[in-house]
Order: sequence, then C-alpha cells, then structure tokens
Amino acid sequence: MIQGIGAAIGIAIGKAFVLPHWELDLPDSQMDAVDLAREFERLYEGIRTSKNEIEFIKNEFKEMVGPEESQIFDAHLAILEDPVFMNEIQGIIERQYKAAEVAVKEAIDHFVSMFDLLDDEYMKERALDIKDVGNRLLKHLLGAPEVKLPADTQPYILVAKELSPSQLVHLNPSHVLGILTMTGGKTSHSAIMARALGIPLVTGIENKLDKPIQTGELLIVDGDEGLVYLEPEALIVERYEGIRDQQRKKKEQLQLLAAVEAVTKDGTYFNLAANLNSVKELDIALRNGAQGVGLFRTEFLYMDRHDFPTEDEQYEVYRYVAENADQAPVVIRTLDIGGDKQLDYFSLPEEENPFLGYRAIRISLDRTELFQTQLTAILRASAYGNVKIMYPMISSVEEVKQANVILRRAMADMEQRGLPYDAHIQVGIMIEVPAAVTIADLLAEESDFFSIGTNDLVQYVLAVDRMNEQIAHMYHPFHPAVLRMLRSTVEAAHAAGIPVSVCGEMAGDERAIPLWLQLGVHDLSMSPQSVLRVKHRILNTNAVEAKEEAAACFTLRTSSAVEERLSAFAERSSYIKGNNGTDSTAS
Ligand code: PEP
Ligand code: MG
Repeated sequence: MIQGIGAAIGIAIGKAFVLPHWELDLPDSQMDAVDLAREFERLYEGIRTSKNEIEFIKNEFKEMVGPEESQIFDAHLAILEDPVFMNEIQGIIERQYKAAEVAVKEAIDHFVSMFDLLDDEYMKERALDIKDVGNRLLKHLLGAPEVKLPADTQPYILVAKELSPSQLVHLNPSHVLGILTMTGGKTSHSAIMARALGIPLVTGIENKLDKPIQTGELLIVDGDEGLVYLEPEALIVERYEGIRDQQRKKKEQLQLLAAVEAVTKDGTYFNLAANLNSVKELDIALRNGAQGVGLFRTEFLYMDRHDFPTEDEQYEVYRYVAENADQAPVVIRTLDIGGDKQLDYFSLPEEENPFLGYRAIRISLDRTELFQTQLTAILRASAYGNVKIMYPMISSVEEVKQANVILRRAMADMEQRGLPYDAHIQVGIMIEVPAAVTIADLLAEESDFFSIGTNDLVQYVLAVDRMNEQIAHMYHPFHPAVLRMLRSTVEAAHAAGIPVSVCGEMAGDERAIPLWLQLGVHDLSMSPQSVLRVKHRILNTNAVEAKEEAAACFTLRTSSAVEERLSAFAERSSYIKGNNGTDSTAS
C-alpha cells in the first residue's frame, strides 16, 4: 500500500493503463541565417494551430463541465500570447540560430525550472501549464503523434507521470475509473477537473514506487484516503469492492428521493436549496433535487486565475446558473474573500486576525469599483432567472445602506446602457456576526431576507477560529449561546415579516432538524452532497415530537447536553444506516 495525496474522492478498482511518455526527437544542428525567416514562420504557424486547438478544447470542455472550469484554457491561451515566453523563444532562434522546436523546448525548460525553484504551490502549478502548452506547440512543430487513450477496452485506471488539463479533457469519464499521477497537488488544475468529472484521483506517489507501474496491473485507488494498492491481495480487493458497492448502494437508495418533497411525517414542508462553490455543482445539486441555490459563493470565481474576472465573465456564469436552476431562486452572495480565502493576484495585508480584518463586505465597500462590477454582472443575470443578491459579513446598518448605494449606482448604469434587469431584485444579508444578531430588528428593516451563516456565527460567538485545529473541539454549533443567537435572529425576521434561512454547514447536519422546526425555519441551504441525506431524515421525522425535543434543548445548559439529546433523537428516527449526522463535505 502506498500513501499519496487524495485529490478527488471515491474508490476505483481496475487495471492500469499507463500513459506512455513520448520522447522528443529534436534536431541538434544549427541553422543558416537565411533559414531564420522560415523558422519564424513555422513557429507562428504552430502557435496559430495550437491556439485553434485550445479554443476547440475549451468549448468542448465548457459543454461537458461548465464555463468556470473551461477558463483553465484561457490561461493556456494567455501563455501563447505572453511576451516574456515568446521573446525567450524568438531570442533563442534569432541569436543562437536554433530550430523553432529546439527554441520552444529550451524556453519551456527555462521557465519550468525557474517556477519549480519557487517554494510556491501556485507557481509550480503554473509551470505545469507552461509545459502543457509548450508540449502542444512542440507537437505541432514536430508532428509528434497524440497519445491515444484506449476507447473501447474495459474501463481503466489512468496512470501518468503528470496529467495536464488538455490530456484530461480528452478523457471519457465513463472509460476512466480513476487516475493516479506521480506528481501534482490538490490545487492543480487537473485535480480540480477530476473532481468536477467525479473521477477519483490520487497523486504525489513519485518517490514511493519500487518499480514503475505496468499497463494491465491491478490497482486500487482510494481517493478518500489518498491510498494506492498495487496488485492487491484478493482479500483487500474484496474489502474495497464492499466499500465501493456500499457507497454506490447508499447513493442509489438516496437518489430515489431526488424528486420527493422534503416533508415531515406529519406534513411540515422544508425547502432544501444548495450551496454552490462552483458552477459544476449546480448539476449535482439539481440531480439531488435541490430547490434552487441558497448560497452561491462567488469568490470561487475569482480564484485560480490571474486577475479579477470581468463583468462579462461573471455575467456569463451567473446567467448560466440563473437559467439552469429550474426557475428556482438563486441567491448570489457578493465577494467574500479575506479570512481563509485569498486571491493570488490581490495581495491582502498580513493581518494579526484575518477573520476580524479586511474581509467580505468590508473589501467590497473599500474597493467599490470591484463591487459595482460584480453587482452589475448579477443584475444583468437577473433578467434570466429568479436571482437574489446577498451581502456577506454584515455587522451594521450603515454597511447595508452603503452597499445599496453602490447597487443603485449599478442599476443606474444598467438603465443608461439600456440593459434589462429585475428592478425589484431581492437583496438580503448574511447573519454571521454577533452584532448583526443583536441588531437583527434594525437590519430587517433594510433587508428583504436573512440567511444565517452558522460557520462564521459559531466562530464569532464562541471566539473559536474555525480554521484552528488546536481549538476545533471548542467549535460547538450546538452551544446554548449559538442556539440563543439563532432564536433571536429568527424572531426578529418573523417580527419584521421577512424570510429567514440557514446556509451554514449546520443546515446540512441532520441532528439540527428539530431546532429548525421549533424555530420555524423551513428554508435550508447546504452542500449539494447533503441534500438527499437531510431530506431522508426530514421524511422520517415527526415534527410534533421533534419540536418537543428542541424545546427541551433550548433549556439545556451545555453544548454536549444539547448535542447528545439531538443525536439520540436522530438515532431514534429510522434512516439509512451508516450516516452519523455530520456533514463530511464541509467547505
Ligand atoms: C457561513 O459563514 O456560515 C457561510 C455560509 O459562509 P462561508 O462558509 O462561505 O463563510
Ligand atoms: Mg461566512
């Protein structure tokens, strides 16, 4: 057994197909000066062909997975237009009289080793991009054959030294059971794409193999634990087949509930929406029967790129989600960076307490041009679906008012440009800071709806950093203080007559259902992976009994007492065995 890095979850058992490495046959002689013009022409022709090919792949991938993932190929196109990379190649041809393919190869090696030297995961991943694009260009210059993956054989586990996004895009997910790469990381584009395609991936086993893996060898790839078994014994295969089949069966059983309404045994309805971290999750969410998007974390649109997304780029994504959400509401939360979410191209200041610092709406109100661009993109998308806007990390009435000033500016801009949008778009706020809870009655006057973000609320109420493993045992969503905060928020919303939902991870925790019933919260938004599990529990819950339990919980004095009581109640409701109530897909 080999321990690698689990970069995409799931279990794959099957035969290896080892992707061959083609060796380059580069000319070693120097050219005459008279041939320079011809070499440049070959280079430019190669660049044109490579660009066309990347555009084609990009569009193919957009159809297959979604617009967000296809942006990876924009980075590839940008490399072919990068003056530094191109100057290096041209310089080698011009000054050293070398053939175009030799110049390209030397330029790739130069930049790759330079980026590899940097102790920075992001730059290392970019080195992979340069290699990928450079190899494509080389392929056109040399006429090297494209590696063909076996299409009509049995599904296989793909083994490669490293896998580029362009190689991954050619894969037919139904032929590939899993992927094993020697090098790479969780943040590589390939890992992002494997996750999007639902293919288990383990990486980072380069120096852990005694001998190279051969095509046809039996492998187990355990993307959950990052484990790889080479020619495993029958007993291990049997055990893993058991786990895999159990995972599939559980999924299939729950899948039957996708079209069923989320209603308790005694008739209380819930609306279960999905939290989206990326566009591709919309498909999973809809497949799992989510009723709309309760939280679209737009910051993920700003990540994994070199600059802020333009208005058009954002609009495309928001519109896609709005149009494809089956007419259900799509709550688009404005940028929530800072804290644990950073952007490579936007250097946030080093802070003693980033979660108490320059974050979320505070950045938006400081960088109003970025904010207005985002709001305009959302407004444009509002013409195509049931779109709502939500501001994160609100702690005062002034912030809502200031945010609305920018929103009105964006609306005026829309009018001027003659673009259609929903002039009555609903604008809500996240309740995730204790100050917002205590002035919820005042904030309710400024907002069309509340959504409680328990992830941050718990950390701020209990003063327990949600990222700090050392104090993770103190992070208690069922702490009496949190319960009281939930209650006063919901009471304020009800008193003001505005809707209130919950979108933190607590919404995906089945044990909390009695609390929502008792409080009168019937709108929950959670990870798409949690929707069916929560729905199953709701279907098995008696609301009257659950409310009694919850009422008792509100009188308890400790988190553990509340948690024990809710866990015991959840255990008593019948449900598919093996689920323990917590959401393992927390982001
Ligand atoms: C929350 O804080 O509960 C929330 C939903 O927002 P995020 O997890 O993105 O901070
Ligand atoms: Mg939050």
